[in-house]
Amino acid sequence: MSVSFAKAVRDGCRNLGVEVNEVDGCYSRGNGQTSDYRGIVNHHTAGGFTIGFDRILVDGRWDLPGPLCNTALDRNGRLWLIAAHPANHAGASGGWDTAPLPHTGLFNKLTWGCEIQYPGVVPMTDAQYRAALIQSHVVCKVAGVPGDYRWVKFHQGTSVQGKWDPGYAEGRTYDIARFRDDIRALDLGADDGGPLWQQIFDEITGGA
Ligand SMILES: [Zn+2]
Repeated sequence: MSVSFAKAVRDGCRNLGVEVNEVDGCYSRGNGQTSDYRGIVNHHTAGGFTIGFDRILVDGRWDLPGPLCNTALDRNGRLWLIAAHPANHAGASGGWDTAPLPHTGLFNKLTWGCEIQYPGVVPMTDAQYRAALIQSHVVCKVAGVPGDYRWVKFHQGTSVQGKWDPGYAEGRTYDIARFRDDIRALDLGADDGGPLWQQIFDEITGGA
């Protein structure tokens, strides 16, 4: 499922005007789990306003092997596809906004993870925010829950480790209800690359 899911997200985002770049090896990269993606978790890196992608998201840290996300958003709102397969981004779930996803120690296989590359103690760029809205919309569509933005998460809402990303000031998380409203306000409709079954069909038949 991972590769077809990733390609559907890629195509859906491109169709809605987001530039998507495929990092070498992205379709074979993952943490070894098998995906069962049902929603998306958005994060901040607490790094710089990167142009391109932070190498650490591919390689991991001393205490956490990569990949650390499925996609990264750079300061210009360009999406970088890091890993099609589950990535180590979300830890365990169980925070206040986890539902309708389950409380589980195996949360990464259930959620597409996006690292928005900015410090987190100041707002992300408008281009990043807009691309994050669009990708979140597309992931719901590809996951088979089009327009149901309960499946769009911030790490703050699902974490049981006190994570507060994505933030706009020190310790201050963006408002997830506002974020969902902002997706609806874009009125993205159905023009986002078609459902997952079409992508799978195309792969089977060699059409994609
Ligand atoms: Zn996070």
